[in-house]
Amino acid sequence: MVDTHSHIYSEEFDDDRNFVVENAQKVGVQKVILANVDSLSMPRLQQTLTEFPNFCVSAMGLHPTSVKENYIAELQTVKENLYNQNHVAVGEIGLDLYWDDTFKNEQILAFEQQIAWALELNLPVIIHNRKAFAEVFASLHKFRKNMPKGVFHCFSGGIEEAKKAVELGFLLGIGGVVTYKNSNLGEIIAQISVENLLLETDAPYLAPVPFRGKRNEPKYLVEVLQKLSSVFAVSDEKIDVITTENACKLFKISL
Ligand SMILES: [Zn+2]
Repeated sequence: MVDTHSHIYSEEFDDDRNFVVENAQKVGVQKVILANVDSLSMPRLQQTLTEFPNFCVSAMGLHPTSVKENYIAELQTVKENLYNQNHVAVGEIGLDLYWDDTFKNEQILAFEQQIAWALELNLPVIIHNRKAFAEVFASLHKFRKNMPKGVFHCFSGGIEEAKKAVELGFLLGIGGVVTYKNSNLGEIIAQISVENLLLETDAPYLAPVPFRGKRNEPKYLVEVLQKLSSVFAVSDEKIDVITTENACKLFKISL
């Protein structure tokens, strides 16, 4: 398995990062993609990459909730790193109108700028989207002649949005939310092919049942995988093989 979205560089893992990695490997997680947030998270991300060079790869980008007055400078920092280091994706980028829409216009500018860089570098994008499907699709529409590849990480939409994302060539990142009782994500993705899905944890956030509310970690990818095999009524192994292949293909990684 590949955990295609995780933040195990964050301080929640400072006391036991080695164990977290070991435990993930024990249950079959072979790689983790570290998604950047902003200039503050970059040194931590870099440090974790250096510590676990065979286990971690990275995505570089400016997260929409970190788009504030100083976003031009933040973008510049991200760009320098993006163009000078090896990353498997541009991310996480996108729009978040759930927490705060004060900087909506700046979020859109930052999102579109980073898509342009992804295209220039021939990298996929990892899209964070909260309460902003219309705006995200409007931004993507501007790139319709040269659509980036990528994933809607922690996909949170309905069936229409799922179909539209897939039509545009995007994959849907599925994590702990699919195991929640009050979520209809399982029913939605049942109408989508496994070929369009990726596994992710978003650790330390959104731990799957029965660990909901606790710190999430890559080893809990197993719970997400098992939920998907029940949704699609196929074996765990089949979900594992297909989603791992999807991840390797999109991010051009080998295991
Ligand atoms: Zn994230």
